Amino acid sequence: MTAAQRPRVFLAGIVTETNTFSPIPTGARDFDVIRRVEEFAEGSDLAAIRDAVEVRGWELTFGLSATAQPAGLTVRRAYEDLRAELLDALRAAAPVDLVLLPLHGAMVAQGYDDCEGDLIEAVRQVVGEDVTIGVELDLHCHLTERMVAHADVIVIYQEYPHTDMATRAVELVDLCAEALKGAIVPTMAIFDLEMMGLYPTTSEPMRSYVDSMRRAEGTGGVLSLSLAHGFPWGDVPECGARMLAITDGDTDGAQRAAEAWGRRFYDLRDEVTLRPVPMEEAIERALAAPRGPVVLADQADNAGGGAPGDSTVVLRRLLERGVSDAGLAMIWDPVAVSLANAAGAGATLSLRLGGKMGAASGDPLDVEAHVIGVIDAMKQRWPQKEGAIMSPCGDAVALRIQGVDVIVASRRTQVFSPDVWTNFGIDPRAKRLLVVKSAQHFHAGFAPIASEIVYMAAPGAVAVDLDQVPYERVDRERYPWVEDPLPPR
Ligand SMILES: [Zn+2]
Repeated sequence: MTAAQRPRVFLAGIVTETNTFSPIPTGARDFDVIRRVEEFAEGSDLAAIRDAVEVRGWELTFGLSATAQPAGLTVRRAYEDLRAELLDALRAAAPVDLVLLPLHGAMVAQGYDDCEGDLIEAVRQVVGEDVTIGVELDLHCHLTERMVAHADVIVIYQEYPHTDMATRAVELVDLCAEALKGAIVPTMAIFDLEMMGLYPTTSEPMRSYVDSMRRAEGTGGVLSLSLAHGFPWGDVPECGARMLAITDGDTDGAQRAAEAWGRRFYDLRDEVTLRPVPMEEAIERALAAPRGPVVLADQADNAGGGAPGDSTVVLRRLLERGVSDAGLAMIWDPVAVSLANAAGAGATLSLRLGGKMGAASGDPLDVEAHVIGVIDAMKQRWPQKEGAIMSPCGDAVALRIQGVDVIVASRRTQVFSPDVWTNFGIDPRAKRLLVVKSAQHFHAGFAPIASEIVYMAAPGAVAVDLDQVPYERVDRERYPWVEDPLPPR
């Protein structure tokens, strides 16, 4: 590339998070595939990358972006076909100067423990050693040695909920731009913390840790810092939290920074690890609260972690207890949606609701449901630092079941926003308690209206108590952590 030439950029991604314990296979048809820049969702990392590339006057070629809702193992053929399409598009775009890959980092397919490592290596084989490869990952990734070996720059979200996807994408482009100019030689190192858990960044001391990590970026020779939290429901040997540091050509410095920041996080392990409240206690707490709405996160049925999203366990308990002035969202049940849709708003009908996907979903509930409203192709906002992404819920209905306003959707997805109620004209602020099927991404949307947020440990498919997770390949002697201090390296 000469100075007079515009750098040529290739952009593509294959994105899903694999819960290896989930009974729901991830097949070719589960991927939403876009192939045109015009289809980028505003507010997304793809749109942010497009803008950052265009503002520099670079030439952008977009291959494809395939995204599937987290579920079980990806079918081998589905992954291999998407990989082949991506690599074909890359070959067609060649020669390029920069490849940008917004990925997830915890995708597992039949025969592939580390899809992203495999993909990055395959891209490297196509473009050769001289082309810069920049990768953005979700912090719930299994950050592997293979990914680091074949990429030049990896930048991982720092916020959970992930409100910084676009921000981090721009930072990735910035670093790659410096590398293209020859102004820096990005040099990465990782440090394995040998710990596993969920670490929301909205409460202390995690909040301060992330803030100090951000302040350290760009100082003391450290260009970028990323904490890969890991994804606890992926039963793969390379797992858990890992710290990534990038310096300018300084291998020892990168290793030192990764280790220092990693050890600092390890020292916080007791305080930062999420310990949810048992279901009965969580409901008690909500009912005893002086005012609402208390938001109970049904973490174990979070579709975003690969759970079915059709568990009836919490709803059954609310109905048994005669709880009123409550809301619960969203149950995945396309059949119930179509029946309620046919009956129409204002109707009352008998429904067999939820509990279909497996033992972890509980039994179906037989209810008398009053249809408050029906919405085709409903969307909810997913709050980001700069605006929001409109996230699809499929067709949705609002049902009043005894005193609980239940949202049922035809698309399996978690709750990001109070929109899921307000779309139907239901005011969630007027409720005593709101149950949201989500682990943490609900937080940005609900914190402004919640009187209190309780992380609830109901029984379910993605139990946050890791002692309940039936690992076979994760080393149970080492995880969730070893109480002795990390050995010196
Ligand atoms: Zn995530």
